Amino acid sequence: MIFLKTDDEIELLRQSNLLVGKTLAEVAKVIRPGVTTRYLDKLAEEFIRDHGAIPTFKGYPNPYGGPFPGTLCTSVNEQVVHGIPNDIPLQDGDIVSVDCGTLLNGFCGDSAYTFCVGEVEPEKLALLKTTKEALYKGIESAVHGKRIGDIGYAVQQHCEANSYGVVREFVGHGIGKKMHEDPQVPNYGRRGTGILLKSGMCIAIEPMITMGRREVVMESDNWTIRTKDRSCAAHFEHTIAIRAGKADILSSFEYIEEVLGDKAI
Ligand code: MG
Ligand code: MG
Repeated sequence: MIFLKTDDEIELLRQSNLLVGKTLAEVAKVIRPGVTTRYLDKLAEEFIRDHGAIPTFKGYPNPYGGPFPGTLCTSVNEQVVHGIPNDIPLQDGDIVSVDCGTLLNGFCGDSAYTFCVGEVEPEKLALLKTTKEALYKGIESAVHGKRIGDIGYAVQQHCEANSYGVVREFVGHGIGKKMHEDPQVPNYGRRGTGILLKSGMCIAIEPMITMGRREVVMESDNWTIRTKDRSCAAHFEHTIAIRAGKADILSSFEYIEEVLGDKAI
């Protein structure tokens, strides 16, 4: 069941998503070699709660094991998504996807950004750049009257044209009062296929792109997803509202990129 949101509901979704962007900017301020993802997680949780919101990932149930223990998903290098914050210091040259979710005034925020730690090699920078571009190409296709397959097609074409792998097992999703609603939003697809996009639909688009093959496996912690071939992966995510002509991006990278300055991808 797909819930179309009213304009008022979309404004509430925007507020929750802007808080996610501001939380990720707090992460951006401190991310450097030697910092642990557990530290980033603690900082994010405090920031979210200080703003009257709830971190939605914390305690999220898992069909394979225990609930998610963190506020952030922190996925380093070959980890794609759902990495658990831990005490391993980030190293110079790492890339780390930081995914964050909030519940504010009854509505969910969900956005992710892949950060560079210190000096990162050009191949990894190119992966990040292409993944972020693919997200915006997906958003360009996410307009009233198009279909869900148009979004996946746009993402897939851009990434595969650059010889990257597009993860199939994990997808974007509808978002609203719940973090994961219908429909599923794959990062691959055929033009003109799938459900019709309508103004007021709110979805999270989140390409998960690999430098090597697209296959992924789950680690023994029952959460962390990594590439099977251990090639690096990147992940960027925006929550958007479908509109006629142009999507309304409800989350924001502006706060993050203000902090990153000329280091922004
Ligand atoms: Mg997310
Ligand atoms: Mg998501």
